[in-house]
Amino acid sequence: MTDLTIRPFFWRPTNLFPETRLLSRTRDGIVDTSYGEFGTRVRSLLAALADRDFGSGDRIGTFGWNHHRHLETYYAAPLSGAQLHTINVQLGDDDIVFIVEDAGDDILFVDPGEPFETIERLWSDLPVERVVVMDETAPETDIDAVAYEDLIAESDPITDEEMPDLEEDFPAGMCYTSGTTGRPKGVEYTHKMIYAHAMMVMTPAGLDISERDVVMPVVPMFHVNSWEFPYAATMAGATQVYPGPSPSAADLLELIEREGVTMTAGVPTVWIDLLEHVDEHGGDLSSLERVVVGGSAAPEEMMRRYEDEFDVTVEHAWGMTETMSIGSVSRPKARMDDVDRSQKYEKRRKQGLLSPGLEMRVVDDDGEDVAWDGEAAGELWVRGPSVITEYYNRPQANEDDFEGNWLKTGDIVTVDEDGYVEIVDRAKDVIKSGGEWISSIALENALMANPDVVEAAVIGVPHEKWQERPLATVVTAEESDSDEDQLRAHLEETLDQPDWWLPDEIRTVDRIPKTATGKFDKQGLRDELDVDDAETADR
Ligand code: AMP
Repeated sequence: MTDLTIRPFFWRPTNLFPETRLLSRTRDGIVDTSYGEFGTRVRSLLAALADRDFGSGDRIGTFGWNHHRHLETYYAAPLSGAQLHTINVQLGDDDIVFIVEDAGDDILFVDPGEPFETIERLWSDLPVERVVVMDETAPETDIDAVAYEDLIAESDPITDEEMPDLEEDFPAGMCYTSGTTGRPKGVEYTHKMIYAHAMMVMTPAGLDISERDVVMPVVPMFHVNSWEFPYAATMAGATQVYPGPSPSAADLLELIEREGVTMTAGVPTVWIDLLEHVDEHGGDLSSLERVVVGGSAAPEEMMRRYEDEFDVTVEHAWGMTETMSIGSVSRPKARMDDVDRSQKYEKRRKQGLLSPGLEMRVVDDDGEDVAWDGEAAGELWVRGPSVITEYYNRPQANEDDFEGNWLKTGDIVTVDEDGYVEIVDRAKDVIKSGGEWISSIALENALMANPDVVEAAVIGVPHEKWQERPLATVVTAEESDSDEDQLRAHLEETLDQPDWWLPDEIRTVDRIPKTATGKFDKQGLRDELDVDDAETADR
């Protein structure tokens, strides 16, 4: 018996589907390649890594979007015995430096353009030896940078016999997730975890991916292994379309039309945008059969529109970085085939049925399991072979967020009689906007660092396009005459985060409600401001 590693994920498509196409949108246009070519290039990259003594015990950071070179690195890094650490290109400078340092990345594979410029700007703070620019050539620069294509060209592909030995418990992947307080937390994946999860995702009870699909993973490759498509869809031998740097709705539509995409996946904002684009400019979605939507709750209206107007099924999925993405999918059970549509939507807008291989508990404040009655709420705990049991290097979080091998998800849920999970609240004080986290506490601390601000509490407010946007409330000092513009300018100056972190509104209030223990009572604040059904202006 062999260990559960990703090696067969590489073997299968390269040997059984060498002609199947892999398409990749790059800055220079669409690159049309195949699994056969992918196999040769990964082997060359493995040779180049071996020549530089990269392998077991090393971490290879990547800082880029979805394209064929990134896919090749997804394989070459773990197949070399090293660990692939995907870094979110949309983070603020501080977090990027922190994450690269915390993980101790040895080398970074970076996209040309903005991602490269970011790394170049931060270079003196980054403890990294060199950069591989995922492009034909490397730009003129003072930092130690080599072009990806030069690496591929310089080495002969290694043979099966030359492939390094792997063990299933080798670290293979890593991804940071936003912490409620403090810095992002590292989540590590072993080969065995990726194996287990990719298999789970491939099954009909997961996302049912087959060789017949033309899959376009829109969820970025820096987010939880792009929900496992690079492993599951590759293993399945599906045709894949990688949509490249910051794809717009127009880019996605063009790829769907041109390549006949049958299945795609991403956060709701992306699919809302695509609908708007098609409304305005027209477009042909006739090849599309399924859109996997997760990361935030899929709005029912959007689901209905895809189904009614384009005959596309929206598969609503839930997952976390800690569960290696997809942990549940919501589909009506077979025995509901004959019930009416609205009853089906009752189920489909929930987060759904736990994926095969996982187990769950829903635990109330007293540590008791709640009834599956669709009413009683508690925290969702999950465990399984693809769920982490500790964070990298975070003793306190490890004490707080796990109970034995159960992960406490921080999602407050109900479970109905049929076993469908529905998220009704979030125990973690964070805001998820367009699939990206914003820390309320970081915003509050930045606001309270202003001498004119006595107290600040930030909450997430529902938003049609971004799902949630931050709303800040502040109590200002009596003698202060700071207005919203000044406070916004203060945040812009002091908060080392991208613009989309800035609250849509900073509202001055007389007081912020508190809990019995003196903490901000965010639910009380939400009730007072009556924001749960409100919608903020477009950011
Ligand atoms: P991340 O680790 O960034 O993938 O975020 C995971 C968190 O996103 C979960 O714990 C949920 O709070 C939220 N989330 C993921 N999928 C959904 C969904 N389908 N509906 C509502 N919230 C979701």
